[in-house]
Amino acid sequence: MSSRIVARPPASTAVPALQADASSFLEDAAHYPGGTAAGVLRPRSIDDVSACLRDARRVLAVGAQSSLTGGATPFGDLVLSTDRLTSISVGPDRVRVGAGVTLQRIQDELARVGCWLPPVPTYLGAFAGGAVATGAAGAATFKYGTVRDWVDGLTVVLAGGDVLELMRGYHYADDGFVIGTSTGDRVVRLPDHVRMPAVPKRSAGYFIAPGMDLLDLFIGSEGTLGVIADVTFRTAPLPPAVCRAFVPVPSEACAIELTGKLRLAALDTWLSRDPFGVDVAAIEHIDARSIAVIREDGVDRKFNISLPSESACVLLVDLELSRAASRTPWLAQLESMDDLDAPDSPLVRFGRILKRLGVFEDTELALPDNRSRAAAFAELREAVPAGVNRRVAQAKRQDPGISKTAADMIVPFDRFGDMMRECRRLFAARDLDLAVWGHISDGNVHPNVIPRNAEDVRKGREAILELGASVILMGGCPLAEHGVGRNPIKQELLRQLYGTAGVYAMRAIKLSLDPHGSLASGVIFPAQ
Ligand SMILES: Cc1cc2nc3c(=O)[nH]c(=O)nc-3n(C[C@H](O)[C@H](O)[C@H](O)COP(=O)(O)OP(=O)(O)OC[C@H]3O[C@@H](n4cnc5c(N)ncnc54)[C@H](O)[C@@H]3O)c2cc1C
Repeated sequence: MSSRIVARPPASTAVPALQADASSFLEDAAHYPGGTAAGVLRPRSIDDVSACLRDARRVLAVGAQSSLTGGATPFGDLVLSTDRLTSISVGPDRVRVGAGVTLQRIQDELARVGCWLPPVPTYLGAFAGGAVATGAAGAATFKYGTVRDWVDGLTVVLAGGDVLELMRGYHYADDGFVIGTSTGDRVVRLPDHVRMPAVPKRSAGYFIAPGMDLLDLFIGSEGTLGVIADVTFRTAPLPPAVCRAFVPVPSEACAIELTGKLRLAALDTWLSRDPFGVDVAAIEHIDARSIAVIREDGVDRKFNISLPSESACVLLVDLELSRAASRTPWLAQLESMDDLDAPDSPLVRFGRILKRLGVFEDTELALPDNRSRAAAFAELREAVPAGVNRRVAQAKRQDPGISKTAADMIVPFDRFGDMMRECRRLFAARDLDLAVWGHISDGNVHPNVIPRNAEDVRKGREAILELGASVILMGGCPLAEHGVGRNPIKQELLRQLYGTAGVYAMRAIKLSLDPHGSLASGVIFPAQ
């Protein structure tokens, strides 16, 4: 039996003025060439969005255009910019925001009331609507899950302008959904042969699961099923204190072993609710080639961060500290680490895990009262993608056939070592210059080729497709957090993941909600 919901008919208000100059909307962070747009609409309200979609032919909703997949690049579409949907209303444990509110503004407003939105992606300039539309995830997925897990309500405007108000927990599917609209029922049938991999992040086409909530169909649908006009997120109290550790390690194997131990310690802490347990929210990592990029660019010297010459990997660990643990001064806790009679504390337990693996001496801790040092560590981590992207752009000036060649793979953590071995093998066999970084606490990495010529790009894509096939066999997902967008390799990875029948079933869902194919044409599925 299908769950039924009735949408509000399209608003009768006038369509907002069309801005003819679309020049600042023709590219997203994937830098696909050749973007063109029929103009830009910039609605200020839900009714405006509805009016925009009432009889528009081809519309591409965009947020901050930080997409890494070309999904926010228009190719002849009318751009619907959400940048004027900027309302925000903060409640005790919820925040309701217009689609165009940046994640940074959400965090700033929430911080005033001692709260935050934990699952945000690394780029805080992204808009709320964009983060939901891509099913984004951040560094802290290990503890807090993805953006999807924090969405409690959505206002979605469908093709044709009907408005759907959705709250989590009200519309569950059995075999599908029926949505009553002003032009008749739109019937969404859920295929029973699509099985999503059991990993913490998936931004791989539509969310399809038995008994699913209708809300989840729109999260991660990349603008292809409707335009998200506003979002209600759950929020959480800010942790009492956070310590960020910069941990150089001598080998990738050691990084994986340490991450495994810290994950187990954190799981134990959450289960036992031990206020002195090790409570890890996130572990980021950068590999040896990424460290070389940092050294070449002088980022370590800029921040005066010591990187031992034998480091093969750096981990960045966010350790949350309870109020009870905050009663003894941090330095006193660290100084008592070797004293077995010293008072117990999460910092001491954390330090002892590092000591047992021989990596404590090279570790630098940004204690909770040193926010600027914690920010410096994060900037060093962010300097890796920035440095790699700069190298790709430089190489592209010499050889226009060069483009960003990057993957976004996740496996269950116990297969992480296997994935990395396979990754190294596939790229080395093609003699490719490879930098790898990512969210190791989730088993999620971003292997990036630093191409010297267009042939490296071709070989890199080949390696990504082969790695994707292995990742799927390991129970993982070759599309973890950036989405599919217009990237042909990612569209092929989606086909590898769910098969032709799975992609066909997703297309059928798209067709039932957007019969004329007017929304985000060419995104997720090749344009027809
Ligand atoms: C430096 C950098 C770091 C990043 N780090 C991360 C990370 O840690 N994790 C992660 O997941 N991603 C990351 N990304 C990718 C990107 O920031 C996210 O995917 C982000 O959520 C996109 O938000 P946006 O507002 O820029 O959306 P856009 O790029 O504008 O749009 C992305 C897609 O969503 C659709 N869309 C946008 N708004 C709406 C709407 N209101 N309704 C319907 N569809 C819409 C668009 O059509 C497009 O298909 C990073 C990007 C950069 C540049």
